[in-house]
Amino acid sequence: MSDGKKPEPAINNRPDGVLRDQKPQEYYDAIKAKFAEERDLRFAYRPEGTQQYTSDTSLFAKYTVDPYAESLTENPRAPIDDTVEVLFIGGGFSALLTAARLRERGVESIRIVERGADVGGTWYWNRYPGAACDVPSYDYLPLLDEMKYMPSHLYAKGPEIFAHCQNIAKKYDLYDLAVFRTTVTSTTWNAKEKLWVVGTDRGDTMRARFVICANGTLSKPKLSKIAGMENFKGYAFHTSRWDYEYTGENLEKLHDKVVGIIGTGASAVQAIPRLAKAAKELFVFQRTPSGIDFRNDRPTDPEWAATRRPGWQEARRMKAMRGREGDPEVKAELNSLDRAEKIRRQENSNIEYMMRIHHRIEEVITDPKTAESLKPWYMFMCKRPCFDDEYLPAFNRPNVHLIDTHGKGINEITAEGPVFDGKTYPLDVLIYATGFEVQKTGIYNQITGAAGKEINKTYADGIRTLLGVHTHGYPNLFIMGGYQASFQFNLTFMLQTQGDHIAECIRHTRDNGYATIDVMPETEEWWVQEVIAHRGKTNRNAECTPGYYNFEGEFNRRQDGNYNGGFRQYFEHMTGIRGELDKHFQFTR
Ligand code: NDP
Repeated sequence: MSDGKKPEPAINNRPDGVLRDQKPQEYYDAIKAKFAEERDLRFAYRPEGTQQYTSDTSLFAKYTVDPYAESLTENPRAPIDDTVEVLFIGGGFSALLTAARLRERGVESIRIVERGADVGGTWYWNRYPGAACDVPSYDYLPLLDEMKYMPSHLYAKGPEIFAHCQNIAKKYDLYDLAVFRTTVTSTTWNAKEKLWVVGTDRGDTMRARFVICANGTLSKPKLSKIAGMENFKGYAFHTSRWDYEYTGENLEKLHDKVVGIIGTGASAVQAIPRLAKAAKELFVFQRTPSGIDFRNDRPTDPEWAATRRPGWQEARRMKAMRGREGDPEVKAELNSLDRAEKIRRQENSNIEYMMRIHHRIEEVITDPKTAESLKPWYMFMCKRPCFDDEYLPAFNRPNVHLIDTHGKGINEITAEGPVFDGKTYPLDVLIYATGFEVQKTGIYNQITGAAGKEINKTYADGIRTLLGVHTHGYPNLFIMGGYQASFQFNLTFMLQTQGDHIAECIRHTRDNGYATIDVMPETEEWWVQEVIAHRGKTNRNAECTPGYYNFEGEFNRRQDGNYNGGFRQYFEHMTGIRGELDKHFQFTR
């Protein structure tokens, strides 16, 4: 618990949704109309939805090669044929924080199988310059209490977070059985043995009693399909495979290079200020601008850190979850409003936020045309909000050129470089900051359950889970960070709630001498209906500009999205289910 003397470090302002109207409603309505106009324009330019992207590794294999590991031929190993109790597919935060909970419950045989050459997941792959968390470290980095670790800054940088991952793996002895540079390709239930049989691209046959899909929410890099991209003669890579050999450790090798970057999402926003300083010339190809709020990063106050008492991180996260409804006055006011009024106030509050973002751009950017181009015209949370103090000033530098494609994007690349409006931009190096495929369960991997059915076939008429974690017919299998779970800006808190839940399910199964746990079909159906009932209760919907938050505008996805009833409700449902495991799950001996 905190000591109550030194306040928690403040974070950036978010729309509070209880704002009393500051301006006439016509003001907000006019801005909403402009949001709709800009969204329609973008939809018109990309009717292919998610098909505009590709993560087809056979076409673009060079963009997925791991630049941080030695080549496979230098690292041969014999295929593994053995049995463990718990096997994690993926070695990022999902696996690490769940494994810690399993260790606390006495589980000894735990294996991580990971594509990268180390644990870390997102923080293993994303080493682009400027990579750092966007959620305050004290909330974002998991297991701070258990690790007795205090992040150095309000927003920890990539290397510090990666080291935290490694330290968790060391503390909980997760390296012993871990297998790296290995991709799980098949996971098949053996009903006779009551074990999962896990095959890999290294010829392994690993058996496991419990399997946890911990393969990440945004782990497979994707590229925009752009005509002629394969003809580009310069150097090219994706932000999640940063080639420091080419750029130099401190980007010093870019001093005589003309650099281009496609995309202005959260990754690009962190990389661009560093590229701007290092490159001879930098061309930023923008389709939709991000909203950039203050970062105000600062070192952790040692006095504040010294007064944290055991349990402080959980208390802080729980307080954040209760949010504004924790304040009795706000709660009373919210309760007195009908749904339409709540939505109206929230929207107006969101618009105020976005106009503050516009105002900041006008203050910082010297060229009025560039300032106009950098203004995001969509509702707060239609795209991931970004926080940076150096991004906007980078566009005042004479060597930085914003190529505003105003929703059209780059659709052609020649041997020299990207083409826009009939003009070719010759480049030495082109960086794709075009994001990641949103997790599909069994990404890279065929999961075949008790009825011999591959999981994506089971999902053919819509995803079916309980809490996004369990699917009937796939006993002893748990899914983390997938669809039908709640959306939470602080993703690791969501993952921790799932990890705590999974560890408890496994403990209950083991302690009662059961061999298997499988969700009841009726409980699964209840959750599917909950997900459907709450569809649309978010602004990450049809009214939003396209992006991965709304499947690039593919609105026919039935229940194949997040649970939108709110994180607090998700958390409470999960706690409730855990209190009645025998009612909601079938157990066999
Ligand atoms: P995003 O999917 O957010 O961004 C992709 C970018 O590429 C968008 O700006 C998109 O434009 C643009 N784009 C795609 N195709 C084209 C094209 N043909 N021409 C021009 N532009 C194009 O990917 P990111 O890697 O930036 O971020 C992914 C997520 O990873 C974040 O939302 C966040 O959840 C996470 N992340 C978190 C960080 C943190 O916590 N610190 C840091 C970085 C990432 P458009 O918007 O028009 O689609």
